[in-house]
Amino acid sequence: MIKLTRKLTALLLTLSLAAASLLAGITGAVAADAAPTITIAPIDRAIVLAGQKFDFRVELNGAAVKKSELKVTVNGQDAEAYFGKKGVFTNANANSSELTIRQVSFSKAAKIGIKAEAKAAGKTVKKTVFYEVYEAVGNPKKAKNVVLMIGDGMSANIRTAARVVSKGIDEGKFNGWLEMEKMEYMGLVTTSGMDSIVTDSANSASAYATGHKTAVNAEGVYPDNTEDPLDDPRVENIVELVKRTKKMSTGVVTTADVTDATPAAMAIHTRKRSASEAIVNMFLEAGSRPDVIMGGGLEWFLPESAGGKRKDGTNKIDAFKSLGYTYVTNATELNKANSASKLLGLFKKGNLDVYFDREYTKPVNKAIVGEYTDQPTLLEMTSQALNVLGKNKNGFFLMVEGASIDKMAHPMDLERLIWDTIEFDQTVGLVKQYAAKHPDTLIIVTADHGHSMTLNGTYNTEAAKGKTGEELREFVGTYADSKFPTYVDANKDGFPDDPDSTWKLAVGWGNHPDHNDDFLTNPTPISPTIQDPNVTDKAWYIANPDKDPNGIHFTGNIPHDEAVEVHTFDDVPVNASGPGAQLFSGYMDNTQVFRNIVTALGIKATSK
Ligand SMILES: [Zn+2]
Repeated sequence: MIKLTRKLTALLLTLSLAAASLLAGITGAVAADAAPTITIAPIDRAIVLAGQKFDFRVELNGAAVKKSELKVTVNGQDAEAYFGKKGVFTNANANSSELTIRQVSFSKAAKIGIKAEAKAAGKTVKKTVFYEVYEAVGNPKKAKNVVLMIGDGMSANIRTAARVVSKGIDEGKFNGWLEMEKMEYMGLVTTSGMDSIVTDSANSASAYATGHKTAVNAEGVYPDNTEDPLDDPRVENIVELVKRTKKMSTGVVTTADVTDATPAAMAIHTRKRSASEAIVNMFLEAGSRPDVIMGGGLEWFLPESAGGKRKDGTNKIDAFKSLGYTYVTNATELNKANSASKLLGLFKKGNLDVYFDREYTKPVNKAIVGEYTDQPTLLEMTSQALNVLGKNKNGFFLMVEGASIDKMAHPMDLERLIWDTIEFDQTVGLVKQYAAKHPDTLIIVTADHGHSMTLNGTYNTEAAKGKTGEELREFVGTYADSKFPTYVDANKDGFPDDPDSTWKLAVGWGNHPDHNDDFLTNPTPISPTIQDPNVTDKAWYIANPDKDPNGIHFTGNIPHDEAVEVHTFDDVPVNASGPGAQLFSGYMDNTQVFRNIVTALGIKATSK
């Protein structure tokens, strides 16, 4: 786009005077772009829970004015008077002005109109936004507990692939459905954020956790015009809300680093998802402290002197222990922690290894898992989380994430991605068993965005033996030649005994960098690309020559600075069971997931 504009400008500059008026028009457009603009947070068309706390911020960018020159009204009344609170007026940048009123809320269901107006350089700049404020009412049977299960990047096609691999299909009929497919209600969720059509996992998890859209990399905040990633206008999230209003217990369980986007967005606030050290600090704040935190990410809890990555020299494991948390470091300790009232489980420095490498491969490949030979499964973590959180008579909110579905979709590692999807689905089964005994539990299973995997047919590994490169194409079965997969699961554990059975799934990728693929299981996780050694001034990825050197070469179809397959903006399925599950049917915006959760719980956020 930028390149095109430059070319166009260059072309115009070569034109004769006859085109001068056109050129003036273009120049005029540039000048108009530079005119001061007003942005307001929350953004236009926000749907806000009555009583939910948020930071209200009006920014005038492109002009510095005095406070008296920036007029902001809410339903016709001066904003500070409306919210009953003095704001802070700043000129954060040389050419900007801001009014921020922190920790305000709307008291009841209403239509809200916000008008902001400033006089800058003799011109009047205006902005109007509208909100709908709702109360969380209308669910006849209240949920006491909510378990939000997020298969990160788990598109509909990824579910189907897991069903093929785990259950099998004969004569066109599947031999079973996944646990997540056997639930009461189903809908489809959009995934886009406020800044771009394709989201990342911070932005999308934030929509589920707050009911507000935000930008890529942001969690629990609207993006502002300052560099500081911790000062952006906040929106109260689900962990904070259920703690404040109902004294519920809360937990986050993930196969990723616990400071990763999806778990962090449930509880904390930052413009920059990679602010891991600060995220741990926020996990410790009373109002946003989950009672159960489990996954990887040990390195963000330890100072550098103790092998961690913390620059501030503190040991946050000690901080959690002093607050009464039981701390566990492996599956054995975790499974014995039944009496814990609060639980911190950190099982690896970074992300946990994937199911394929930590459970399925026997013996475990130490070159992959290193010293971490006793990592828990997602089932073990979730089981203990339910036990600990279930002790609170006020109920609990638990988020469970199958994180490596996404992390293995990016490098297009079919087996590792599907094995983690099956592990996630078996965890859904475990939570359903809990809900059978505790029927006041709402279970929601969804994804936060898609990946571009397509289900092309099946692949004949036997016939392809000894063949290389382009020859492999001939063994992809299409139409009548797409024979049913021959995966065998003799021990009935839900995972095939041989991932490369004679006929296996043949998948494609809608977007991808340059890479090679031989359609067979990778013995270890491997990057599809490397930086082109001949390009030193920018990121420029080419196929990794060490990955599937005898495979088919695929020429990339996304920019060269993308090292892996990227997210898509597919609508993603949502399934739900339990009280309030009926709210999850039909198409919905991703912010509606939050609204449905608080409505299922009947949260009165206006209470103190
Ligand atoms: Zn991702």
